Amino acid sequence: MSVRRTVVIVGGGVAGIAALVRAVEAGWRVELIETRTKLGGRATSFDDVRSGVELDNCQHVVMGCCTNILDLYDRIGVLGEIDWHETLWFSRGNGATDALSIAPILPAPMHYAPSFVRMRLFSWSEKVAIARAFLTILRMGPRGRLGWTGKSFGEFLASARQPPRVVELFWDPVVLSACNLPSRACEAAHALKVFDEGMLAHRFAGAVGVARVPLGRLYGRVGEIAASSGGALRLRTSAKAIAFDGARVTGVVCDDGFVEAHAVIAAVPPDRLAKLCSSTLRTQDKRLANLERFAFSPILGVHLAFRRRVLAQPNLALPGRATHWLFAHEGSADVGFEQRVEAVVSAADAWIGLSEEETTRRVLVDMSWGLGVSVEELTQDLVWSRPVLEKRATFASVPGIDAIRPRSSAEAGDLRGGVANLFLAGEWTDIGWPSTMEGAARSGYAAAAACTGGAGVLADLPPAGLVRAVRAI
Ligand SMILES: Cc1cc2nc3c(=O)[nH]c(=O)nc-3n(C[C@H](O)[C@H](O)[C@H](O)COP(=O)(O)OP(=O)(O)OC[C@H]3O[C@@H](n4cnc5c(N)ncnc54)[C@H](O)[C@@H]3O)c2cc1C
Repeated sequence: MSVRRTVVIVGGGVAGIAALVRAVEAGWRVELIETRTKLGGRATSFDDVRSGVELDNCQHVVMGCCTNILDLYDRIGVLGEIDWHETLWFSRGNGATDALSIAPILPAPMHYAPSFVRMRLFSWSEKVAIARAFLTILRMGPRGRLGWTGKSFGEFLASARQPPRVVELFWDPVVLSACNLPSRACEAAHALKVFDEGMLAHRFAGAVGVARVPLGRLYGRVGEIAASSGGALRLRTSAKAIAFDGARVTGVVCDDGFVEAHAVIAAVPPDRLAKLCSSTLRTQDKRLANLERFAFSPILGVHLAFRRRVLAQPNLALPGRATHWLFAHEGSADVGFEQRVEAVVSAADAWIGLSEEETTRRVLVDMSWGLGVSVEELTQDLVWSRPVLEKRATFASVPGIDAIRPRSSAEAGDLRGGVANLFLAGEWTDIGWPSTMEGAARSGYAAAAACTGGAGVLADLPPAGLVRAVRAI
């Protein structure tokens, strides 16, 4: 009888879950160690004792281009829990909106053209400027983007002669939500990827997926999958150190004992990983050299429960306001509110330290601007509000960041490069995506494939024929 090889995965966020699913499929026994009581890491939900409602730590969206997280949802049986929206709504203030929608018939990259032309937020000359920049992005494709690595997206927009108003009202709302930094501070290659692969390359790429259940409920089958391998989920268990014998890692020291392993996949953020590694391990493994050099960017989510429906659209950008996006969720009579709006503030540094009352007041002022309803009326209809600030929501996608993101595995035969049976996962590793659930899923798949020799990262959506033709010109 063959003895199953054991991998210990540290961290039960999306990266750890993705690694677990792939490692089990490859025939390994998996032990997953997670400090918290729930899976999902940054993409999870909590029981809010004040409101009695299970709330996400913040609104999370996926997009059609996120092939790996969608594949993971499919494997854990929850793809059907995602609602899809083909329109992004932009507020013009005072209740007026513009829709940016995927047209039913037109092929990519023309699929947004009809609704874009109809947008009243921008003048004709501003639309021409945006279209010109889109054409440049489309033409350069993935290869051309490499030339922008290390520069800011603001530099790209300047080279594409984008008027400041267009940067503020069009490029920034999208870049802030996808990369959690404004254009002027964001790595150009990351933002260019968002617009190219997330909007232009494929008709379905820009569709927005929102979970219809609290995020923590998406991971219900993961324990069963771990158990099917002979391993287990060890929730409420903290890893204290990755054990290293000078050549290989041998397991993980936890607060409740030692878990022996043939291989370890570390799926925790860089600052947490630094705490798990001895200086000997860090000297031996070059991938661990830059863990302290990552900076982080905060996101504020404010849940607002209203007695009546205040937001008519499923999503609404508030261009130029401090609150960036609103998302609508149904309430019901038994929870005491008709609609819950989730307001999202990306790169929320300026909101740190504000009281809950002041945070709610500022969001209501922005909502009042967008919806054309007075702050007093909104306040009267507000049943409760619950701000949730994540100070380390994402690693900061600053120019040059990709140079310090480590590979998931040590290069074969190069022991100076890394320890052969230690694998790194997490959205901050070198997977070419900004800090997203898609990046996390890719990193987990990549680490599991390197560890087990099994299947790895799924390909991107194929660019449409017309997109390929434009790139070939
Ligand atoms: C407010 C907010 C909004 C976001 N919005 C979006 C969005 O709309 N779309 C999107 O795609 N992405 C979004 N993101 C980013 C996305 O959530 C992350 O990129 C992704 O979830 C990271 O997954 P991960 O598994 O790499 O890391 P994490 O989720 O951080 O998982 C790491 C896990 O390791 C555990 N851990 C840490 N130390 C130890 C230890 N010593 N022992 C055991 N366990 C440990 C942690 O508890 C955690 O569960 C958002 C993030 C935040 C915070």
